[in-house]
Amino acid sequence: MRAGSVNDIVANGLCTGCGACESIAGRGSMRMGLSPEGFMRPRLVGRLERATEERALAVCTGRSMPRPPAAEGPVHRIFGRILHMGRGHATDPTIRFRGATGGVLTALATFLIESGRVEGVLHVGTTREDPMATEPRLSSTRAEVLAASGSRYGPAAPLRMVGELLDAGRLFAFIGKPCDVATLRRMALTDPRIDRQVPYMLAMFCGGSPSIDATHNVVRRFGAEPSQVTAFRYRGHGWPGPTFVRTANGQEFRQTYDETWFSGLRYELMFRCKVCTDGISEHADVVAGDCWVMENGKPTHREVGDGWNIEIARTQRGAELLKAAITAGFLHEEPFSIPELEAMHDDHGLKKRSVFWRLAGLALTARPRPRHSGHRVVRAGLLEASPREAWSAFSGVVTRLLKGRNHESPITAPARAAIESGD
Ligand SMILES: Cc1cc2nc3c(=O)[nH]c(=O)nc-3n(C[C@H](O)[C@H](O)[C@H](O)COP(=O)(O)OP(=O)(O)OC[C@H]3O[C@@H](n4cnc5c(N)ncnc54)[C@H](O)[C@@H]3O)c2cc1C
Repeated sequence: MRAGSVNDIVANGLCTGCGACESIAGRGSMRMGLSPEGFMRPRLVGRLERATEERALAVCTGRSMPRPPAAEGPVHRIFGRILHMGRGHATDPTIRFRGATGGVLTALATFLIESGRVEGVLHVGTTREDPMATEPRLSSTRAEVLAASGSRYGPAAPLRMVGELLDAGRLFAFIGKPCDVATLRRMALTDPRIDRQVPYMLAMFCGGSPSIDATHNVVRRFGAEPSQVTAFRYRGHGWPGPTFVRTANGQEFRQTYDETWFSGLRYELMFRCKVCTDGISEHADVVAGDCWVMENGKPTHREVGDGWNIEIARTQRGAELLKAAITAGFLHEEPFSIPELEAMHDDHGLKKRSVFWRLAGLALTARPRPRHSGHRVVRAGLLEASPREAWSAFSGVVTRLLKGRNHESPITAPARAAIESGD
């Protein structure tokens, strides 16, 4: 069963929060804002014509993922097409230090701008008014790209700006989560301007996107209130770098990546992330992730030195981009093997093996579910998941659905906060 309206998508927890529907419907009709649940969601602020809603639904990855492009090379059963892969980092020490990992995405964006391949890069950064909130922006200088580096583990809606940039005839690259890139690829199926005006799409590996409560609860852990925060970083400034909070009275707090994420922090991940088939972005030209140091067969998140990314080219264009950025001195790269990738990122292997069983839970309980053709989900679920993994995924999602824990407020509910001041 497919969701039949934008409200169905949101109310059933299938929205990724990308903002494409605002771009399509226009801000007078739909506007992204923080939902009562703390996610970035479309809020109805005017009349939504059915024809407009159909256009929004046609690109929505809450409804259907695009098919990964036909293979130009070997297709890994979990990680998809790998035309080229390496471990690398930005050669500029500032970018490498401030980036989430090794600064590869920031270095590629900088190269694309400085080589004149694009005018700017559409991505997200901190809002001026609230250091915990995230907004989309077009960065067109090295300083602007750098200012938006780092991972933001909270609501972001990078595609809410894409319509106005296309209308203005701008030539730009895009950086976003795998679901953001997948939506842009879907938009390209009906809007030919995207292939002309967005020649490069870059993504990061993504294990899921939390509600804003994760951020607020980190702040409260330090005994501070979100309203007092004047600076906030999830990571970066090291590898992975501390979570960093500064308050209006000048106090500074830091904790490690593991203290933030693996010591009982209370928050919800988007339900859509639990049924995600593409955390490793098969739709990007280049995708980057952490190239963790392994200790006793497991990745360590200790600060073990300067950051290293995994970088994977999915398309010929992405492979050419990596090569050109290396030749121009923006990136350093070394070999990295498939067995190393499999061992380091089996969290994404588990996600892929589990998702068939979660989607089966949606089907069994007659809930709408996203289509995901071409992502090898059935194969991973039936041939690779252990009975324990399958049962845990299936029973977990059915329990959640029966308790209504996928439900979110309808799009008519007022926003908890808007993404921009003045809204
Ligand atoms: C929600 C989330 C989940 C992640 N999960 C994983 C994971 O499971 N495994 C893994 O290896 N890595 C994960 N990462 C990616 C990792 O943190 C790094 O982003 C990645 O290694 C790229 O590093 P970098 O140094 O090249 O990035 P940078 O050079 O620092 O560039 C980061 C870019 O990402 C953009 N960005 C940051 N946050 C968001 C966001 N929320 N939505 C859209 N764009 C954003 C920024 O605008 C910037 O352009 C995740 C990141 C996020 C935001």
